[in-house]
Amino acid sequence: MIEYENLARSNQAYIAELEDAATRVIRSGWYVLGQEVSAFEAEFAHYLGVKHCIGVANGLDALILSFEALDMPKGSDVLVASNTYIATILAIVRAGLRPVLVEPEIETFNIDPAKLGTAITANTRAICVTHLFGKSCRMDAIRAFAIERGLKIVEDCAQSHGAKLAGQMTGTFGEAGCFSFYPTKNLGAAGDAGAIVTNDDTLADRLRHTRNYGSKQKYVNEYVGINSRLDEMQAALLRVKLRHLDAMTQHKRALADTYLSLLPTWLTLPRRLADEYDVFHIFGVRYSRRDQLRQWLLERGIKTEVHYPIAPHRQKAMVGILSGDWPIADQLHSTELSLPISVGHTFEEIQDICNTIHEFKHQLYA
Ligand SMILES: *Cc1c(COP(=O)(O)O)cnc(C)c1O
Repeated sequence: MIEYENLARSNQAYIAELEDAATRVIRSGWYVLGQEVSAFEAEFAHYLGVKHCIGVANGLDALILSFEALDMPKGSDVLVASNTYIATILAIVRAGLRPVLVEPEIETFNIDPAKLGTAITANTRAICVTHLFGKSCRMDAIRAFAIERGLKIVEDCAQSHGAKLAGQMTGTFGEAGCFSFYPTKNLGAAGDAGAIVTNDDTLADRLRHTRNYGSKQKYVNEYVGINSRLDEMQAALLRVKLRHLDAMTQHKRALADTYLSLLPTWLTLPRRLADEYDVFHIFGVRYSRRDQLRQWLLERGIKTEVHYPIAPHRQKAMVGILSGDWPIADQLHSTELSLPISVGHTFEEIQDICNTIHEFKHQLYA
């Protein structure tokens, strides 16, 4: 059996360090917003080369708080990819803004810079990019467009910890970079956690209030905030994992290399450009008979995933919010298959998966 992800196995190499960190927090008697959070914020900001990091409770809150802090008029349009994970769109809606869909590039799953021009209206104030599957969006073209039109950029980096474009880290291109540390993400906690990074002092100051009831000083409230604090336990565990993030990424990139050299050409494989440093949160291939292939693999003990089975505009929750036809999103959602690519997977397992995929095509034409 090859699982899609086994977190106990993926965390095994760091178990002693994680247990030490957990014990330290339990014994400290201080559990929410403390030294561990401050230290993690400083270390993660340093890792990305950005001025500020504000720890929050999860990735969705990181996005909601960022949109709110940018103080755009209620009902402003935010451009967002038609195939992003639903959380990106939920955050825009929760912040009182209007999601306006833009189709992705079919080769990369990322928002298509060439399509921003037709989506923009007089009401557009921002672009929210999602660096899906661990690949940076084309921030060169997107930033040029945003600067020319005076639009803000919010980056959904929930899948792109450490991913770069032309040497620059995702999360540092726009006004705010929003991270999730959900356990399965490339930098994963042992529970929910998230963070916002920014180079903007004013934005950072406001976010340090709004994550904590609008208050930085106890019982003094300056904003209508929420409770979205990062706790000491998750911060301490994340500090351990952050020290190993580059090594974990290198392992995933090496597994991706194995896939890219062994998988058959009848699958559409991830595109790789020289200036893109992908961190392969997900290894997503495309194939017209995706469901058949997925079943074949499952019957042979190989578990895969689909990211994602239903496009945002087809979700019941989005009735009255999203409308229109989004054929590229539909095509991606009906053909994408995610192959196992975790820190816990071995090269032998990847070879097994590739061999089994080759056999699938042989039986199809037998
Ligand atoms: C995981 C994820 C989120 C949400 O993060 P949570 O911590 O689960 O709230 C948002 N956007 C994308 C693209 C994600 O993959």
